[in-house]
Amino acid sequence: MSSQRVPIVAGNWKMNLDRKRAVELVCRLRESVLADSRVEVGVAPPFPYLSVVAESLHGSRIFVAAQNLHWEKEGACTGEVSAKMLLDVGCSHVIVGHSERRHVMGESADAVARKLDLALSVGLKPILCIGETIEERKGARTEEVVLGQLKSALKGHRAEDLQDLVLAYEPVWAIGTGLNASPEQIREVHALIRRWLAERFLSTFADAMRIQYGGSVKPANAAELLAVEGVDGALVGGASLALETFLPIVQAPRVVRA
Ligand code: PEP
Repeated sequence: MSSQRVPIVAGNWKMNLDRKRAVELVCRLRESVLADSRVEVGVAPPFPYLSVVAESLHGSRIFVAAQNLHWEKEGACTGEVSAKMLLDVGCSHVIVGHSERRHVMGESADAVARKLDLALSVGLKPILCIGETIEERKGARTEEVVLGQLKSALKGHRAEDLQDLVLAYEPVWAIGTGLNASPEQIREVHALIRRWLAERFLSTFADAMRIQYGGSVKPANAAELLAVEGVDGALVGGASLALETFLPIVQAPRVVRA
């Protein structure tokens, strides 16, 4: 792992926890990661708890991310949440293009691109998720799918616009299944992404880009997976719902480097 890229570990709570447990979890997390300056840590609660979580984390080093946003700035979009609202309630980051949104909610590549554009335009830092399904991997289409998602999301952008972007390589078949990708599979895809970024933008840009791995990261595999060349932290689902399982992952990059 490059010493210039600060690892970033974020917990995606999805549609889990309740207000009380959310506040308890982040209050304990806040106490635990206070002294750790070598890993950027964040949580992505469901929309109704963003405010209370942001208030509980105010003044701490832990960032708050939303799990989604709408591509329109404001207006007649019943049931949607705007980027400005997310900033207003204390979010600094937003997850864009998570596989559950792409594959379960039917979010198109165009929608992902528009969401990314809007997040960047208002100063919300996007965590852009990309990754192949098991059928695509078995069909030797991983490269085509991952780079296709990247090309479509970053279309029209210059490197200067993308300084706040974080990428998350999340093979769909590894999410929530308990089946993580192997270190070799992760290394290959992260290298592929970085090569493409260097060709499309600049090698300095590619070198600075943080690429998380996501997909069944747990305390038992975190040290191994976060030590893979080109991996700059993790996007964590299930294991982020309890301090006992999230904290060892947050601490894994530091353990690897020690
Ligand atoms: C995710 O939802 O982004 C994720 C990686 O989930 P899990 O860690 O549960 O596989």
